[in-house]
Amino acid sequence: MSKAFVFLLFLLVPPVLSHANTLQGVRMHEAPDHTRVVVDTSARADYQVFTLDGPPRVVIDLQGTQARSGFDPSVAGVGRKRIEAVRGAARGGDYRLVLELKNPLRPNAFSLAPVAPHGHRLVIDLYGTSKAKPAVRKAPKADRDILVAVDAGHGGDDPGAIAANKKREKDVVLQIARRIADGLNELEGFSAILVRRGDYYISLRKRMEIAREARADLFVSVHADAFKSASVDGASVYTLSDRGASSETARWLAAKENQADLIGGVGDVSLDDKDPVLRSVLLDLSMDANRSASIEAGKAILAALGDVTKLHKHRVEQAGFVVLKSPDVPSVLVETGYLSNPAEARRLSQREHQTKISGAVVRGIANYMRAAPPPGTLLANRMTGRRDGTVRYTITRGDTVSQIAERFGISAGSLREANDLKNDRIRIGQVLKIPPS
Ligand SMILES: [Zn+2]
Repeated sequence: MSKAFVFLLFLLVPPVLSHANTLQGVRMHEAPDHTRVVVDTSARADYQVFTLDGPPRVVIDLQGTQARSGFDPSVAGVGRKRIEAVRGAARGGDYRLVLELKNPLRPNAFSLAPVAPHGHRLVIDLYGTSKAKPAVRKAPKADRDILVAVDAGHGGDDPGAIAANKKREKDVVLQIARRIADGLNELEGFSAILVRRGDYYISLRKRMEIAREARADLFVSVHADAFKSASVDGASVYTLSDRGASSETARWLAAKENQADLIGGVGDVSLDDKDPVLRSVLLDLSMDANRSASIEAGKAILAALGDVTKLHKHRVEQAGFVVLKSPDVPSVLVETGYLSNPAEARRLSQREHQTKISGAVVRGIANYMRAAPPPGTLLANRMTGRRDGTVRYTITRGDTVSQIAERFGISAGSLREANDLKNDRIRIGQVLKIPPS
């Protein structure tokens, strides 16, 4: 036999005994309305997903796949809200994963191509059979609160930036977003919802939808990103631009943020976000008004941030962030600082600094809204009342002049003046006139 012939024979023998694919691991992220199961594999998975009942199960068959050595499927199922247990076993040349469910769930499976830091992924989103209610507010009442949707960037498979001290953007910004929401909820006339409430990914489009469905008056996306240079630091505020980015950092960040859907894992990703109806009708009609409202809100937040931290840029920057593309809800993106700067990364993970930053964002939002409260809100109605001189406040225990002034967004001086107060002495039961701000 010639050498060439031996070689040819070798090529013709199919590699029956070798597996094409290796199961690397199984991870889970629990969102309020679904559980995401992520199966990491060495190559694109050939799979079948189906359900069985009595007890309810979801079966995932991975064809031509073997588990990596030491793989223990049960670990992923420990302490889960909707899943009782995870089992797995080899079946011929395939591998079968079984998710034992607490209640029947509807699986939606799709695979994702590698995007750093992830390799090939098979995603199975498990939804309840009756659709879970989104966080929708009750119908607006007279004197309603101003509603702010606070969005913690990234989440789940998308860690966002990772600092030298290993802190992940998705965790840091969720902490800061929670503090912002708490601060707003404490303010009279304001309430807040968190767009993301745990460690799971939400698509950029879905984030806007949550804000719109809740009828938010403002959408604030909170980030703490990385730049290619570690020396860059300071907070910045961005709004949407359709004419290109106002700086190199803005362009860089927008490009990175817009990749989030690929990393976080969205089945059908359209990064250019083209929706002909949205573009031709809504954008033209309301984008301009919305854009200037976004810039005004951004300015107020930036000014307040400048009191507590270094600013990266002293004006509101603009770039094509997909997450800010709501045509009807003013939207801003707050970069609380850069995790790529070691000193700032340390500060951003500390409670004291997080409190300062979130307090400043709350003050900025309050200042913006008090200057131009949306119609129908308590603040708007009170402003009308104040113009007529009909708003009164009755002193209760613990009140001080400066606190009352702050609550109504006016200076202590103008409160004193409106009431002919010579000093800050007030008594319980005393009635004060509240002047317009
Ligand atoms: Zn980010």
